[in-house]
Amino acid sequence: MNKPDFIPYAKQWIDEDDIQAVTEVLRGDFLTTGPSVAKFGEDVARVAGTRYAVAISNGTAALHAAVAAAGIGPGDEVITSPITFVASANCALYVGATPVFADIDPRTYNIDPADVERKITARTKAIIPVHFTGQPCDMERLSEIARRHGLLVIADGAHAIGAGFQGKPVGGLSDMTTYSFHPVKQVATGEGGAIATDDPELFEKMLLFRSHGITRDPAKFRYGNQSWYYEQQTLGYNYRMTDFQAALGLSQLKKLPMFLQRRREYADRYTAAFRDLPGITVPWQHPDAESAWHLYILRLQLEKLDTGRDQIFQELWDRGIGVNIHYIPVYYHAYYRDLGYAKGLCPQAEQLFEEMLTIPLYPAMKETAVERVIETIQTVIRSHLK
Ligand SMILES: *Cc1c(COP(=O)(O)O)cnc(C)c1O
Repeated sequence: MNKPDFIPYAKQWIDEDDIQAVTEVLRGDFLTTGPSVAKFGEDVARVAGTRYAVAISNGTAALHAAVAAAGIGPGDEVITSPITFVASANCALYVGATPVFADIDPRTYNIDPADVERKITARTKAIIPVHFTGQPCDMERLSEIARRHGLLVIADGAHAIGAGFQGKPVGGLSDMTTYSFHPVKQVATGEGGAIATDDPELFEKMLLFRSHGITRDPAKFRYGNQSWYYEQQTLGYNYRMTDFQAALGLSQLKKLPMFLQRRREYADRYTAAFRDLPGITVPWQHPDAESAWHLYILRLQLEKLDTGRDQIFQELWDRGIGVNIHYIPVYYHAYYRDLGYAKGLCPQAEQLFEEMLTIPLYPAMKETAVERVIETIQTVIRSHLK
């Protein structure tokens, strides 16, 4: 018998109408910074529940733009979670600030507001909570802490487009919320990102930041006024999204409700299948949070198993199940160790890291693949019960 097909942990969903939307732009006048980019920003804002959104080249650039617009710089500290992709912390380093890691809540795996509060110093300027796996952080408590200490909240919502908290879209619950449209995320544009905000000043700053800090608006010029004139007013980058990426994003956003529905359905199937399996903890959901289900993470109860996470990872991988680890704690990376960060900073995060396993979840997954994932995990876990 042939080896069964490999089931990846994530994969984009592209239809004919997505292809058509992209080719239409390719046949038109604008390959970059055309009408689709502006329209995509508007549509992201609508989904995020904000007045504005800046479409940008990727989710990392979105974080960089947000931190820069917040005026964060050398000597400042930002507090984020260690259980995230490195970009959530790197954005502070880009502007010369210092990332400080607060531990996670062992139930939601999101940043623990109580530990955030313990890590605040006179230098703290912002909190960067990560809506990890798509489950919103406790925005009620984080906003209250931020307000009391005069901090900005820049949420990394790379996992959370379409997520809600207390019935509201999660984007509007922070000063800025960043998104990624990398193909493993809910909405794919190839590379792509956005920052949602209600604040017109932050919005303007990020528009400038996206394109070299250059304005072409005569009303804003400080020097020339000739018809050919444009003016660089701040230090920006080329973080622009192309028009054909934005066209893909617009087409994908129309399908977001269906994508989220399928993710939720498959997540529910997994939870029903694994809830009572000894040796496994299924994801816990905060009652106020409606997850966008970017990731489905199983937590191993190692005391009930005769082996560790790495062996189980390998056995599933060898059976064609594309498991993954989200994430290596940021400060475990060589670059962060060289900066002086050391193990022991966030014990809950470190323990979770030893026990976690991301299993395949994406809307284009076939029912038969979901069944195969369930049966394979049940078999492998049962074979390792003590
Ligand atoms: C994907 C991701 C990013 C970075 O997004 P890119 O579009 O890949 O640059 C940032 N933070 C988190 C939590 C992510 O998952």
